[in-house]
Amino acid sequence: MMTTATFAIFVLLGAIAGAALASYSGVVAGRGWRASTTGRSFCDGCGRSLRWWELLPVASYLALRGRCSRCASRIPPSLLATELAGSLVGGGVALLVIAVAGR
Ligand SMILES: [Zn+2]
Repeated sequence: MMTTATFAIFVLLGAIAGAALASYSGVVAGRGWRASTTGRSFCDGCGRSLRWWELLPVASYLALRGRCSRCASRIPPSLLATELAGSLVGGGVALLVIAVAGR
């Protein structure tokens, strides 16, 4: 038996995992905002190390309104698009798992 709350949390977790994965692959694919070869993420404009809350996919982009909090350099909208696409895929996968496992 799966309640609506469990269902929502499961899909949400899938979406977050998908967004995080997409964000990570974006870092691997090309340098830019959050780009890092050492594991530390930083702003491409001012070199400032990003705080943990600035690394949250989608949420941090919205919180910062697409700009670095110190130098106001633009965060590429493609990053947000990548993370949104990833969250859709992750949520879709979670739905699939529920559909398969929940029978
Ligand atoms: Zn900056």
